[in-house]
Amino acid sequence: MRVTFLGTGTSHGIPVIGCHCPVCKSTDPRDRRSRTSIIWESEQVRLLVDAVPELRLQLITAGIDNVDALLLTHAHSDHIAGLDDVRIFSERSARKFPVYGSASTLRAVRRRYDYIFRNTQKGGGKPQLSLHPAAKQFTFKGIKIIPVPLWHGRIRVLGYRLGNFAYLTDVSKIPDESYALLKGLSVLVLDALRSKPHATHFHLERSLAEAERVGAKKTYFIHMCHLLGHRETERRLPRNVRLAYDGLKISL
Ligand SMILES: [Zn+2]
Ligand SMILES: [Zn+2]
Ligand SMILES: [Zn+2]
Repeated sequence: MRVTFLGTGTSHGIPVIGCHCPVCKSTDPRDRRSRTSIIWESEQVRLLVDAVPELRLQLITAGIDNVDALLLTHAHSDHIAGLDDVRIFSERSARKFPVYGSASTLRAVRRRYDYIFRNTQKGGGKPQLSLHPAAKQFTFKGIKIIPVPLWHGRIRVLGYRLGNFAYLTDVSKIPDESYALLKGLSVLVLDALRSKPHATHFHLERSLAEAERVGAKKTYFIHMCHLLGHRETERRLPRNVRLAYDGLKISL
């Protein structure tokens, strides 16, 4: 199994438009963060988690030609604003492209991308999607996928567990029953927005405490804002906790 971090930044992206802070002006490529998403792949299957505004550029940069399915964590714009770009996959395969998410996320997709789901004039081209509510546990092409319910402020979102890997973005509280789904992980990927507490995201200190509680062998932080520079922040972290950066690949 291999994971590629396509993007690791919070909703504004880094650099933030018009910001001249040290991180936004940094020349360290790890401080340039597009919106948070990953590719998870095995020999047979390639899954994309979230369809961010930079999706097309991310896939081209990472040299990814095809994706088999999309898993959505929630319907905030920084996680679904690139959805239209998956049309290349349904166009090439002449099959509907599978999208998984919670019932409420899928309802939001239908609402916000209404043109996809109604008859429109021919031409142009729209994604052809099949929407699948992510049940407690489901299988896609033989891969067992476990949705992990999380709180993101007051909204319910999903993380996903695939084998001994789990991906939890946009989270401010892990419900008690979800810890049971996170036992025995090799790698945990976890939200860490900034140093100061935030209403809808874990902040660094809390992320570290949660990483310890979950107890994965290695934890990578994601969804960082421009208040966390890569180099300075990593110095403050234990060795088994790292900041992910755009383009980072890990093998499991
Ligand atoms: Zn987000
Ligand atoms: Zn900045
Ligand atoms: Zn969000």
